[in-house]
Order: sequence, then C-alpha cells, then structure tokens
Amino acid sequence: MASLTKIEWTDATWNPIRGCSKISPGCKHCYAERFAERFRGVKGHPFEQGFDLRIVPEKLAEPLRWNTPKMVFVNSMSDLFHGGVPQSYISQVASVMCAARWHTYQVLTKRSARMRDLLHGPLQEAAGESHIWWGVSVEDKKYGLPRISDLQAAPASVRFLSIEPLLEDLGTIPLEGISWVIVGGESGPGARPMREEWVISIREQCQAVGVPFFFKQWGGVRKKNNGRSLQGETHSEFPTRTHNPILSAVVRMESACEFERAASINIRIRA
Ligand code: SF4
Repeated sequence: MASLTKIEWTDATWNPIRGCSKISPGCKHCYAERFAERFRGVKGHPFEQGFDLRIVPEKLAEPLRWNTPKMVFVNSMSDLFHGGVPQSYISQVASVMCAARWHTYQVLTKRSARMRDLLHGPLQEAAGESHIWWGVSVEDKKYGLPRISDLQAAPASVRFLSIEPLLEDLGTIPLEGISWVIVGGESGPGARPMREEWVISIREQCQAVGVPFFFKQWGGVRKKNNGRSLQGETHSEFPTRTHNPILSAVVRMESACEFERAASINIRIRA
C-alpha cells in the first residue's frame, strides 16, 4: 500500500533512503529529523536509528507494486543526492522510476551540484523522462539561488523549485527552463515568519512568464489556523503530467523482485 501524505502538492511518499544531515538554513527545523528522532531506539520502528542516513533496499521497488498512477514525492524523509548515498544506489532508484513509469515522481534536493552532475552522467535516461520532475529547495538568496543555477544547468526534462521555507525576499528569480514553482512558509515549533510581499513577488514573476504556481501554506506554529489563501485566492497549479501505461501485475511483480534482489547485494552507506 502506498504511503499516503498530507503534503498538499503530492499523493504519496516513497522513501528508499531514510535520514539526512543539515546543510543550510532551510534545514534548521527539519520536519523529517524531528519526526525520525522521536523513534530513535524504538525496536522494530522504521526510524529505530533516528535520523541517521541509511538506505532501505526493501523499499526500493515499492512504486512497482502500486497499480494506480500517483504523484510520488521521492525521499520526503531524506535527500537522494546526499553525499553518503552510493551512486550505484541512486542509479537503482532512478531505474525504478524509469520502470514504474505510470507514476509522476517529484525528486527534491538541496544537494543540487551532485544532482546536476549525475543527471549529466549515469542518470541521463531518467533526466529525459517527462514523468520524473527534478527540483531544488530554495529558502534564501545565499544558499537557495545558486541551487537554481545548478538545476538549470542539468539536462532535466521537467525542473521545479520548492521555495519553502521562504525566509527572505528573493528578489528576481531566474525562471528560464523552470516548469513549476511551489512556495510555502515554515511550520511547527519555532517557525520563522514569511511576509506576504515576498510571496506576491514570486507569484507575479511566475505569472509574467507562465510558470505554474502552487502556494502550499503560510505555515506558522499552528499552520492549520493560517491556511493557504493568498489575497483571497488558492493557487494550486501543476505542470502538465505525462500519462504512461501501467504494466501487468505479473510483469510488475517480477520486475520488483529483480530490483529488490539487486539492491540487497553489496550496498553499503559510506561513512
Ligand atoms: S536536506 Fe531536507 S531532509 Fe535533509 S536535513 Fe535538510 S531539510 Fe531535512
């Protein structure tokens, strides 16, 4: 069964990797870390090891077992391009996305340079697939904007920005070659504020060049109270999705078993 999610811009999450480490100010109140650390030491729980980085080969083939098309957020609890994830495993994740092509995948990273380099090399086939969307997180000018340049330099068929948590006015955003922009404020304990004019500026820039715009949330300590309306409007635009046929159950199961067998051999997380 798919891992359903409350994230507004996707249907399901898929985590063939768990855990991560902080890299920039957007990570300060990482939801995934907060969630994972609650279960550190709980025997048998998926997050028994807290937020420590590790691959999860038994989850690798999961999308092949889902027989209805979904939008799938890849590694909501990690970062596929973390330096500790072996390239061979990243390639296996990409191969599953190419095989289970009736879904739409949303791959989001803060390690944009590694993503760019791999999309030019071993992930070239996946880069060209329109059902796989490649995105970077953008929280501020210093760390976030350079990630957009990396994304634009990658040979991806569909590129997107997740501007969340938006921590300051970003000024002019380079939108050439970008197919989708998501904006959101931080939520949960200690949430940093987001100003309306910062969001309006991004919306106007998207509308000026016809880039679909999705306003996810205002956020805040109690995000439910603040909703996702911007000047009285809800913005829920997406890029156009590709519809590919679903493989037969027999072929899907055979393929899933092959991926799982391959993944269980010789996979090690680098220290
Ligand atoms: S990159 Fe993402 S998952 Fe990793 S620590 Fe930062 S916010 Fe959390």
